[in-house]
Order: sequence, then structure tokens, then C-alpha cells
Amino acid sequence: MDSRLVQNSQMAVKRSADIFDKCFRFDKAKALMSQGLYPYFRVIESAQEPEIIMNGRRMIMIGSNNYLGLTNHPKVKKAAIEAIKKYGAGCAGSRFLNGTLDIHVELEEKLARFIRKEAALIFSTGFQVNLGVISALVGKDDVVIIDKMDHASIIDGCRLSFGEIKKFRHNDMADLERILKEYESKDKLIVIDGVFSMEGDIAKLPEIVSLAKKYGARVMVDDAHSIGVLGKTGRGTAEHFGLEDEVDLIMGTYSKSLASIGGFIAGSADVIHYIKHFARSLIFSASPPPASVASVSAALDIIEEEPERRELLWKNTRKMFDGFKGLGFEVGPTQTPIISIVVGENQNAFTTAMMLQEEGVFANVAVSPAVPNGRALIRTSYMATHTDEQLDRVLRAFEKVGKTMGLIK
Ligand code: PMP
Repeated sequence: MDSRLVQNSQMAVKRSADIFDKCFRFDKAKALMSQGLYPYFRVIESAQEPEIIMNGRRMIMIGSNNYLGLTNHPKVKKAAIEAIKKYGAGCAGSRFLNGTLDIHVELEEKLARFIRKEAALIFSTGFQVNLGVISALVGKDDVVIIDKMDHASIIDGCRLSFGEIKKFRHNDMADLERILKEYESKDKLIVIDGVFSMEGDIAKLPEIVSLAKKYGARVMVDDAHSIGVLGKTGRGTAEHFGLEDEVDLIMGTYSKSLASIGGFIAGSADVIHYIKHFARSLIFSASPPPASVASVSAALDIIEEEPERRELLWKNTRKMFDGFKGLGFEVGPTQTPIISIVVGENQNAFTTAMMLQEEGVFANVAVSPAVPNGRALIRTSYMATHTDEQLDRVLRAFEKVGKTMGLIK
């Protein structure tokens, strides 16, 4: 046999490596576990409240997005229970086919009124909203322009679209304008987080909206961390800046202030109608369960009836911001109830989080690549329902751990 033929046939039978090899090699998380420094998938044995139970022990929760403290509110729970009694546990199908209930439609109308847009469309998670909306709107000749610090669901929505993806430097308006200029002749969608989820800073919406007008782009704001938090009546970033009519699409999730799971997009009737027929994460996924729809509806009522909750949230936020600054911590650029403390290397974040846990405080870490190298964070966030006494305990724990870690003097 010709030696070249032998070689070719050997190449043909050469086996590829096992696709699971990367799993067998992945040891970073296991290393943290063996050091007792693994801060993920911690198991909680109680409701998301200012105090939770972990390993049978009471801890103060400062790692929750339950901003208004509504996840365990009696009216919210009652609404969920009543909905389960009437409609059962699930819808067994997508909104598109058998899964649309009267309460889905009612919630859409209520959300549209709340956000002051013509129409709204509800999805089963906020993540799915961003996947479905961006990929439905951005076609192959279009450009989607996003902030580098936008949420993962926005990035994944862009990846699913057939358009070109351009990222501008975080909150850098000159960089945004550079991209808008370069793509002046194309159809463009700018997508930004209203409040950035890692460090709690607010998007520069007035500048973004005016640049969008100048270059003919549409604007979509992800208000996951702004609904119930920002604006005079908790309607989010656009209300905060008085720009409700200037923002084309507002996305929200129920997994924070709205006390449940699911999400929505609100905008003009024609655009929502289009999204309804092209968003694959809506059409090919089961609809939100009755309990969550009813919970959100009840949470919206409470937001309107009890504005003092938002005031308490901001009072707690100011207390903690001043408290951390007073202790000498490096606090990131926050303007909201997400307050992140810069701790340096990733390992510092893991160690600090576990020392805080020892002190009875549940806080989250944000490490690279989610944040820049050397700028790992302890990410904290507050609820309207935290008491002064609980927050003072948190500050005392941070003082003790911060000194041990050399983060403060
Ligand atoms: N956008 C932002 C900014 C978020 O923080 C999140 C949730 N972490 C989402 C979207 C996704 O929302 P959900 O939890 O409803 O899937």
C-alpha cells in the first residue's frame, strides 16, 4: 500500500479528545472549596429577608436584590396562593399557544400603565427578555451598541442576533459617539443597563438619548435594578431623569423589587406586537406560572400604595454608603442601593466574604473576569426592610474583617 494512503487512513481514524476533558481539568472551584473559600451556591433555609438562616444559623442578608422587601410580604404571598388555587401550578405551554391566561394579559396592561408605555409583553425570566427582544429586533444589516458593563443577558441577546455588535467603554459618551458616527448609515439599537449591576452606577441617559437622536438610533434600557428603586414613583431610570418619552424600550425583571421571577418589555404598541411574533425565547418557552404573575401584580400595587418603602430603601442606602466611607473602605462609583467595596485580587474577595460569613453577614463577591483584574469586589445591596440595628451589625463586621484583611486602618 502507498505510504501516503496509510498515513491518510491513520489520520482519518485518529480520535478527537473527549469533549468532557475541560470538565475533568476544571479545578478552580474545587480548590476554593477545599480551602473553605467557595462563596457560590450557598444554601439558605429561609425566605429572602434581612435575616436568613444558613446552616441553622441566623445571618444578616446583604446580598439580595429584594430591594423593597416584598418577596415575603403577606399580600404578595396571598395573591400567589390564590392564583395557584384558581389556575394551578403551571401553564404547560408557551404564551404563543396554550399558555396565555387572563392574568398574563391583565399584568401586561398593568405594567404598560406603570411604565407609561403603550404596551408591555411578559416573559418567563428577565434573561429571556433580553435574549428575545434583542435578537428579534437586530437583523443582519443592523448594529447593536452596548456598554461594556452591560448584563450578561444583553451580551447573549446580541450574540443571538445576526447583527453587528459594538461595545463602548463603560459610560464613555465620546466612545459611544465614535461608534454611532462610524455606523451612521445603519439601523442601530443602543442597549444599556439603567443601573449597572456590579457597582450600582447609573447610565448617563440624558447624553445617550441625545446622541441617539442625533444619529438616528433607538434606545432600550434594562431597568432590572431600577424598577421600584429609581424615579420619584419607582418607575425606573427614565423617570429618574424625566426622560420617559425619550426611551423607546424599557425592560424589567421581577426577580428584584417585583418579588418573583419573570420579566417584561414595554414600548410602543407596534414594536411590542412585532416582538411578540419574533422573540424566540417567548414563543418557544413556557409562560410565567400563575403564582409569579399574581405576585408581581400584588407587588406593583404595594409599590404604588407604600412609597415609604422606597424612602426607607434610600435611607438604608445612605446609611451604609456613609458607614463604609467613614470606616475608610474604597467604595465603587455607586449611586444606588448596590454598594460595592473594592478589595483588590480575587482571592481577597473570597477570603473577605468567608470572614464576613463567620461574622454572620451574607455578602456576595464579584471577581474577574466579571470585573477588571485586581478590582475584585464585595458586592452588597440593601432592602427597605433592613433595620438600623441590623445595618450597624453589618458595619461592625466589616470593620473587624476590613482591619484583619488590611483593607482599612
Ligand atoms: N438584567 C440585569 C441587569 C440583571 O441584573 C439581571 C438579573 N441578575 C437580568 C437582566 C436577568 O433577570 P432575571 O433574573 O429575571 O433572569
